[in-house]
Formats: sequence, C-alpha cells, structure tokens
Amino acid sequence: MQTKNIVEINDLYVEYNVNKGILGGKQTIHAVNGVSIQIRKGEILALAGESGCGKSTLARAILQLEPIKSGHIKFSDSVDTNDFYKFAQMVFQNPYASLNPKMKIGEILKEPLEINTKYSKQEISKIVKEKIKLTGLDENCLDLYPHEFSGGQRQRIAIARALMLSPEFILADEPVSALDVSIQAQIINLLKELKEKYKLTFLLITHDMSVIKYLADRIAIMYLGEIIEIGKCEDVFANPLHPYTKALLNSVPQLNKTDKKIILKGDLPSPADLPSGCKFHTRCPYVMEKCKKCIPQEKGSSHMVKCFLYE
Ligand code: SF4
Repeated sequence: MQTKNIVEINDLYVEYNVNKGILGGKQTIHAVNGVSIQIRKGEILALAGESGCGKSTLARAILQLEPIKSGHIKFSDSVDTNDFYKFAQMVFQNPYASLNPKMKIGEILKEPLEINTKYSKQEISKIVKEKIKLTGLDENCLDLYPHEFSGGQRQRIAIARALMLSPEFILADEPVSALDVSIQAQIINLLKELKEKYKLTFLLITHDMSVIKYLADRIAIMYLGEIIEIGKCEDVFANPLHPYTKALLNSVPQLNKTDKKIILKGDLPSPADLPSGCKFHTRCPYVMEKCKKCIPQEKGSSHMVKCFLYE
C-alpha cells in the first residue's frame, strides 16, 4: 500500500537579500534552489549536508517562517492551515537558547495550549503532566526554571513543548549536536520511541551521518540548495551514488563502504554566487567539461541522483 504524503514540496526556491558588509550594497543569497521532495506519513526523513547548504532555510520555509520565491508546499488535506501549529512543530538545536530562562517549565509548556486551544485550566494542567512524562521527566520539574536542568533534560523539555499541541509532523533541526556525546544517544532513542508510539513524522536536519543511519528511514542529501541524492537509508549507505554523498560518508570511517576515498576539496561556494552547471563541479574529482555548463537531471525514482556519471 502506498504511504500517504504528509508534505509535498515542488520546485521550491527561497532567496533573500543581505548587506555585503564593508563593501556596501546588497547581494542575493540563493538558499533553496528547485527542491522537490515528498515527506511520507510516519517516516523520519533526514536532510543532510554541510552548514550553509540550505537545510535550515528549507525547514523554515516548510514551517511558513520564510517567504518563498516560487514553487509550492502542499500539506495533506487534513491540515487546517489556520491551525498550522497544531500540525507542525519544531525542535531546535540549542536547548539552552530555545527555552525562556524567566519562565518556569510548567509555564513554558502551558503557553502553546493557552494560545492555541480553548481547554480549561484543569485540562491544560493534565496535558502538561502527561507530555512531560512522555519525555522521561518527572512532573516535579514543572516548578523549576530552565537553568536548573542539564542540556539533555532541557532538550527533553523542548521536545515536550513541541508535543503540547499533539502535532503530526516535527522538524528537528540538529536536535543533538549541542549535547554531550553521552547524552545524545538518550535523546535519539527518545525521538525514535515517540515516532514509533505516536506515528509521528519527522524531518530530521543534521550533518551527523551516524545519527541518520540509526534514526532515519530515508535520507536526502542537499548541496547549495538542491537535493542531489535521495533514497532509503539502507540503499544510500550501502551504495552512495553522488560523489558528494560519498565524500560525506567518508567523513565517518565506520560508515564508509566505498573503495575509493573522496575527500572534499575547498569550502562550500557562496550561495550568493552559485557555480554554473552542476553546482558540485568546483569540488568534484570526476568533473567533466559538460559538468561546468549543463545541469544534471534527476535519475532513478526510489534512489534518485543528479550526476552525469549516471546518464
Ligand atoms: Fe561531479 Fe559532474 Fe557528477 Fe557533478 S555531474 S557530481 S561535477 S561528475
């Protein structure tokens, strides 16, 4: 049976203008460049790529926090766009910055229900206690302030807050990268448990391929605002196709199954000055003349790649 898509993104472009600094004037940042992906109900789709590749801008555009230049984002028919935050919520990278230090945990968790629902005080209090327990914390913590918790506990609180409106879809932007390695596994396991128990759908944004391998169902690789490879995790990890994907996997020795090591040369080009043709051509060890002029098209469906090596 075909799984329902909860989000469908078609040919999406997002760009914004920024000051050039001491040079004066403005420049256009081409953050998302023609992204088309579907997010299936109940899956964890991981979005991977270097910092600055457009992952977080794409997530913000999906959450309607970033104006789009062109393209479409379509949500499943059951989504009421007037009540969007009952459908989608976000967990941020930094649990230290994402919780208001002046509010007690109970107040932080109550807030989304007070703003977005008509529940009574008693109902809100009951839901708050239920949700905090789901994340493995005790209800005694509701009277404490964020600074009284460790990083891992704060991320549990941030996850509880994201769950308050019982969303179907959660965008998790680098949810463990600010945490100690010893704590990361606990939060990863909590996300996995919540996904399985409540049939949640996740867009997981991370550069950590080990986290993706453990947690995600599918992986999309992003480079300079484009999806250049997407497929089931088992397929992409066993048989990465795009040279950039191979280079990302090379950065994690225990995941590297390829014979030839591809080491990334140079830095990510500026999204204000995109390379012509294949955007990866300035760093690709297999670059051909046509890569510099022509744009590779998508090849394959369940495991898609954009690279002239597969045409
Ligand atoms: Fe490399 Fe050409 Fe493939 Fe781009 S299209 S990844 S430059 S081989």
